Amino acid sequence: MSETVQEWAGDVRPAVVGTCQVDVNRSTRRFAAQAGQPLLKALERQNIFIPSACGGRGICRQCKVKVLQGGGAPSPVEINRLSPADLEAGVRLACQLQLQQDLQIEIDPELLTIRDYAAVVQEITTLTHDIRRFQLRLIEPKMLRFRPGQYMQLYVPIYPGSSDPINRSYSIASDPVRANRVDFIIRRVLNGTSTTFCFDYLRSADALHLSGPYGDFRLSDGASDILFIAGGSGMAPIQSMLHQMKNTHSQRKTTFLFGGNTVRDIFMLEEMRQFEKDLPNFRFIPIVANVDAGDTWTGERGLVTEAVKRLVQPGPALEAYLCGSPGMIDATVAVLARKGMSDERIFFDKFS
Ligand SMILES: Cc1cc2nc3c(=O)[nH]c(=O)nc-3n(C[C@H](O)[C@H](O)[C@H](O)COP(=O)(O)OP(=O)(O)OC[C@H]3O[C@@H](n4cnc5c(N)ncnc54)[C@H](O)[C@@H]3O)c2cc1C
Repeated sequence: MSETVQEWAGDVRPAVVGTCQVDVNRSTRRFAAQAGQPLLKALERQNIFIPSACGGRGICRQCKVKVLQGGGAPSPVEINRLSPADLEAGVRLACQLQLQQDLQIEIDPELLTIRDYAAVVQEITTLTHDIRRFQLRLIEPKMLRFRPGQYMQLYVPIYPGSSDPINRSYSIASDPVRANRVDFIIRRVLNGTSTTFCFDYLRSADALHLSGPYGDFRLSDGASDILFIAGGSGMAPIQSMLHQMKNTHSQRKTTFLFGGNTVRDIFMLEEMRQFEKDLPNFRFIPIVANVDAGDTWTGERGLVTEAVKRLVQPGPALEAYLCGSPGMIDATVAVLARKGMSDERIFFDKFS
């Protein structure tokens, strides 16, 4: 630190001037940063992108970093949001940690490979009454290497009715082989900042910024049988994994239970039937919770959890991959656990 740092009393943060040295992963990266700014911003300025989904408010808890030295005392927000074990281990929220002195941190080494991408919207397709597919073409860099199951951060600019730029996470739905393309499957959230922008303002040929890829939700390398379970836009990472399985001529026995509230919430039936043709041991089972009297639905009915109870017999070789709302995932994991599946064989990505 090259200048003075005043005492920090309570949650009133003093103005700090000067620069600090930030050391990442034991000198893998070192840089000087203006004191007084949040660590998350300082890292972003160095093109080190830590996942974050709440605009720096300390709510999403995605921007955890481990401080080895120099972080100062955790803020009241961090004390509220982090577990005692995390606090004990020196874990901090990068959006809340204000740079005040030289700092040494440790982050997942994979985060150092994350990049900023400029993209353009190529096509927007309506999939259901509240879900659209956004196909983006990468402009700079032109290629994205990712593992199916990973997600990107979408930077949402200020638009009429919003007050600040924000960023949100979206799972990559596209085929990893088509490295210049990123598809998102996005469900509109009532009054949601990002989804209002995507649905009401984003148009074909518009420019966008992304960073990524993030996350460790991914298919295991083994030959275990696979149970995919998703609802709504939780389809996204599963679709990308199915592309991966097709590309690698996977023979794994795979069942995909896809739940919708009503018949109009079921989508991509044609694409799924095509995967059934391309993958020798793949079966897609859509399930509708509420079938109206006038619907001609002949498929499975009920909640996904009920379908799991009815249809799934987990042998020792089964792995489950779940994606969607936290409520659906928690309820389904509980059913799988009651059926005897161990935690180590259940993987999930919560859209929280
Ligand atoms: C790893 C990951 C991957 C994801 N992948 C996908 C994906 O592939 N597809 C997808 O559709 N989603 C995905 N999500 C969810 C996505 O990141 C967003 O959370 C979602 O799109 C909602 O963002 P939003 O900005 O529109 O809503 P937000 O503005 O964050 O609002 C969310 C809810 O909070 C309410 N709210 C907002 N502000 C206030 C306030 N001040 N007071 C009261 N209520 C308020 C809104 O009305 C809304 O109901 C993913 C999430 C994660 C963590």
